[in-house]
Amino acid sequence: MHQAPSTTPAPIESLKRSRIVGGEVLCPMQIDPGKCTGCIACVPYCPVHAISIVAGIKAYIALEKCTECYACLRASVCPTDAIEETPMTWPRSLRLVFGRVQSEHKETRVPGRGTEEMKTNDVTGRFGDGQVGFSVDIGRPGVGTDFTDVETIAMEIAKVGVEFEPMNPVTYLMIDKKTGTFQEEIKKERVHSCIIEFTTNVEKLPETIEALRRAAAKVNTVFSVGCCCRVGKDGKIAAKEYLDRHQVFYRPNGKTNIGLGKPAAVT
Ligand code: SF4
Ligand code: SF4
Repeated sequence: MHQAPSTTPAPIESLKRSRIVGGEVLCPMQIDPGKCTGCIACVPYCPVHAISIVAGIKAYIALEKCTECYACLRASVCPTDAIEETPMTWPRSLRLVFGRVQSEHKETRVPGRGTEEMKTNDVTGRFGDGQVGFSVDIGRPGVGTDFTDVETIAMEIAKVGVEFEPMNPVTYLMIDKKTGTFQEEIKKERVHSCIIEFTTNVEKLPETIEALRRAAAKVNTVFSVGCCCRVGKDGKIAAKEYLDRHQVFYRPNGKTNIGLGKPAAVT
């Protein structure tokens, strides 16, 4: 949907220049005001409403909102090729690797948000009998998150005493995996979405759910929680039994591993 024009527009001639301070590129995705005709074709393609029309005549990308997802550029709707990308600098570059599905995280070598989650547990063996695998999917749909909120959630989870998944890019960015804290310089970076992954024992499931509830009350974003465990030899699903017993709402998901993969880990 087209956003209302800003009531206090930045001078149009300074829009592009304002992206570059001291040689550092602050917002690699930008719109050339010299080419933009203000046709608004690109506006609906931004999932986080970062594009608005300034003074009713030129499109402008809000620096703080843009998650560098490239959706506006990839949509190829601009009739004048006014949408441009410029080289990315750290820590802004974090937005790109979490926002662009084709990006590969150099740490995990997995494209997208950089994790295989629990879907491949039959091969990876990330969690074994008596354990529960969690994924906390933050910022979707269409809200985004900064790393201050990611840290708030991670710190609440860490208090329970969990094992953050080492092959996950969010874990990689933590400076302390025991407390779930992050580097100060990335906390203001806003990403389209990211996933915290961890394992814990089935006995800690109640505490973990409570920790996630506490986190939900503190953050300025949205998140959904995936909770998965192996089917026991008796055919019971321990996590499901807990959720049922405590009337925790969930949607059963069909991503069931039936052991066709060749296990890379034995647990
Ligand atoms: S790169 Fe993505 S978030 Fe940034 S303005 Fe374009 S569509 Fe919006
Ligand atoms: S599609 Fe191109 S010309 Fe139209 S508002 Fe967006 S940047 Fe400007």
